[in-house]
Amino acid sequence: MHNDKNLHRTYETTLYAQADTAQALHMEPSERAARYYIVSYGCQMNAHDSEKIAGLLESCGYQQADNQDSAHLILFNTCCVREHAEKRVFGNVGALKKRKDEDPSLIIGVCGCMMQQKDVAERLFSRFPFVDFVFGTHSMHQLPQMLRHVLRGERQFLVFESPGEVIEGLPSKRMQGVSASVNVMYGCNNYCSYCIVPYVRGRERSRESGMILDEIAALAKRGYTEIQLLGQNVNSYGKDRGGIPFAQLLQMANDIDGIRRIRFMTSHPKDLSDALIESMTALPHVCDHLHLPVQSGSDRIQALMNRGYTRAYYLGLVEKLKKANPHIELTTDIIVGFPGETDEDYRQTLSLIEEVEFSAAFTFMYSPRAGTSAASMPGQIPAALKKERLLELNALQQRQTQKTNAHYIGTIGEVLVEGCDQRRESLLYGKLSCFKMVYFPGDPSLVGTYQTVYIKSTKSNSLVGELDK
Ligand code: SF4
Repeated sequence: MHNDKNLHRTYETTLYAQADTAQALHMEPSERAARYYIVSYGCQMNAHDSEKIAGLLESCGYQQADNQDSAHLILFNTCCVREHAEKRVFGNVGALKKRKDEDPSLIIGVCGCMMQQKDVAERLFSRFPFVDFVFGTHSMHQLPQMLRHVLRGERQFLVFESPGEVIEGLPSKRMQGVSASVNVMYGCNNYCSYCIVPYVRGRERSRESGMILDEIAALAKRGYTEIQLLGQNVNSYGKDRGGIPFAQLLQMANDIDGIRRIRFMTSHPKDLSDALIESMTALPHVCDHLHLPVQSGSDRIQALMNRGYTRAYYLGLVEKLKKANPHIELTTDIIVGFPGETDEDYRQTLSLIEEVEFSAAFTFMYSPRAGTSAASMPGQIPAALKKERLLELNALQQRQTQKTNAHYIGTIGEVLVEGCDQRRESLLYGKLSCFKMVYFPGDPSLVGTYQTVYIKSTKSNSLVGELDK
């Protein structure tokens, strides 16, 4: 049971009261064996939400379709973080009108954090009357009930205003290959001035540690050796419920039989404690990689972004991390063209990239999100200048990536084999503990195993190796 008394449900727009999900999983036989297809947008959290949606649909008797054209139910799991997300989703949903006209039995649903923005959800629902159901991020567990109503010919619109307690026990269909994602918490309290996430995912709600560890142990029993712990800010895990901190959760996960690799994301720099750095270093199964978004190298812009740290603080963290573990690779997120970003601010970001030597960076041009404070800040940067800055920054990061890749030439490392190249089955790929991708020739039967690989050369974003005999 979640122990936060402040969390409670608000049924803003709901066609029926909450019922026991398990009860709704018993669909009529005639409703079975239909096929579903999920179109998933956005981040790792959303990809994992899609796995839960798939698990719920399969519990209802649905089977996964190979493609959208052969599906009886198409569900768009949307994300509102990326630029032009709304345009893309509306376009893709609208494109289904002809098919729905030809086959009225096709069921179309739209969910995810974009639908948690009630005005957007309402706009979509009224603009596309052929959409059968819409629900926000906090209503996923209601999917079986919604579907039951839809199958009886009712349109459904279910967007809760506030998240409610953490719902445990939802089935999940693992679709992300050899690595399994596990949510440790939901929501975010940070309100970075450019970010919509706290408004659509709600405030931080940590899962009970026992539930997380049970889930990891069950995954290990099913053969998963690598887990990825997910949260918008895993470093503040436990604070909302007065439970164990993330460093301790990592320790406990590390001790679970069968788990060989633990990754986690995302880490907010302001909450990266010394205890966590110590745990990361001491625990043998925690990978030599940390994704630590910096967003900007300028103190002034970091303050405008409401990030809660300075350039010097961030660089201090990097120093501690590299001292604690000289093998660690760091990746980051960077936004260019934030409102008011001067050339000097931007140059500070470039110099920080050079100083840290990130292994990789996810880079974005700032684009305003309605409802965030940065959207109405003065000094919005012209698109052409943002683009120019992004191109220069990407070129610099590319050089840094190649520089970090070059360190691996002539070394031997352990790769968890993730798959075969689409065009050449005999070319395998997988990651080192430090998150570097390695390509090497090998038998497809090695997918899912750990292999020792000798690194011979590099490509722009990956390493090239051969099995170490
Ligand atoms: S930490 Fe900031 S950027 Fe990350 S989800 Fe929270 S508000 Fe958004």
